[in-house]
Amino acid sequence: YAAKGGRQGVNVYDEARDGHGRHRLEDVAQLRRALDQHELVLHYQPKLALSTGQIDGVEALVRWQHPTRGLLYPDSFIDLAESAGLMSRLTTQVIDMALAQARSWADEGRELTMAVNVSPSNLVDEQFPDHVAALLRDHGRSARSLVLEVTESLLMEDRERAVRVLGRLRDAGVGVAIDDYGTGHSSLAYLAALPVTELKLDRTFVSAMTGSARAESIVTSTLQLAHALGLVLVAEGAEDQATVDALANLGCDLVQGYHLSRPLPPEQLWLWLEDRATARIG
Ligand code: C2E
Ligand code: MG
Ligand code: MG
Ligand code: MG
Repeated sequence: YAAKGGRQGVNVYDEARDGHGRHRLEDVAQLRRALDQHELVLHYQPKLALSTGQIDGVEALVRWQHPTRGLLYPDSFIDLAESAGLMSRLTTQVIDMALAQARSWADEGRELTMAVNVSPSNLVDEQFPDHVAALLRDHGRSARSLVLEVTESLLMEDRERAVRVLGRLRDAGVGVAIDDYGTGHSSLAYLAALPVTELKLDRTFVSAMTGSARAESIVTSTLQLAHALGLVLVAEGAEDQATVDALANLGCDLVQGYHLSRPLPPEQLWLWLEDRATARIG
């Protein structure tokens, strides 16, 4: 399966052009067209449950299938979407596509938890929980089959409102993960008060853990913290078997990373799941 190749995308949004209003307007117009014409596509990266060896779910990662520039990665257009006021539409479209995909996989016999990344503007939108509930209903999916991933820094912007919006999503049963955990600077008191269900330890700690006792200590103590708070710990960015083994020995719950699989288009992810099931039986 598609182990070949790294990123083939190029950046459409060039910071250096930021001062040139004309180019930015063109970029915004193109992104608007992308939303209208459904040029955004999702790739999916599996999450492995270390205690069972089963694939527990997937994370949806957005890409832009640009008509002339090829496949573009989120780092090149997410900030633009945010600053152009298009993030609410983008997130709605992503959740819609992700839930439709999860539904179709469920219909084919595979129940997978779906994780979607959300942005600051989503969490200050008091209507966001209602939009999510409507999309879950539309696709016949349960709230607990959906996890929203938010970064720590995002939570710093308008704390009270973000906590309120997250609280309503949690009350509805939707999972909430803190993404890139350890790279922000929220206090432990704040963390304890947040309505979240998962911590996703940033890949800088995960990728360093097998070569560094200090990095391993950070993983160990984060794991203890997560479990003490009743949260699931996800390790992101595991790139080799030694790291996966070390995480399993420490009692980490879920692992994600290139060693298992890169994010894949849905058809390829399905084949990867089928191959894996066959390999485990045979
Ligand atoms: P993230 O949510 O922390 O996602 C993980 C990123 O790390 C992904 O990059 C993934 O391809 C990459 N990755 C996964 N495993 C490994 C590994 O083993 N090694 C390394 N070096 N990298 C790994 P991607 O897809 O380019 O996404 C980058 C970021 O863009 C995401 O970080 C997320 O913050 C944002 N993003 C992606 N999709 C969406 C979306 O639909 N909406 C919003 N608002 N943001 C998104
Ligand atoms: Mg994420
Ligand atoms: Mg992350
Ligand atoms: Mg990230």
